[in-house]
Amino acid sequence: MSCGEIHDCTEIKGLSSDYVDGDLDSTQSGGISKHLQNCPPCLAFIDTLKATVSLLRMPQNRKAPSTLRAKIHKRLQGTS
Ligand SMILES: [Zn+2]
Repeated sequence: MSCGEIHDCTEIKGLSSDYVDGDLDSTQSGGISKHLQNCPPCLAFIDTLKATVSLLRMPQNRKAPSTLRAKIHKRLQGTS
């Protein structure tokens, strides 16, 4: 796969939290970006994740995140 695009939605979901956190290298995040252009469900998934993560990062929510995070992780893993 020379273009670096990721074709597997499961892989997208596996990398999604690192993608949203900006922890991926440019090849991986570029591959995800390309996938999102052609895959509305994954785009919606990432958008939701981004919104949730930014909510968790708000200072006023600092005390809540552990349970919330656990819930999100559960949801992420339960999505097939
Ligand atoms: Zn997808």
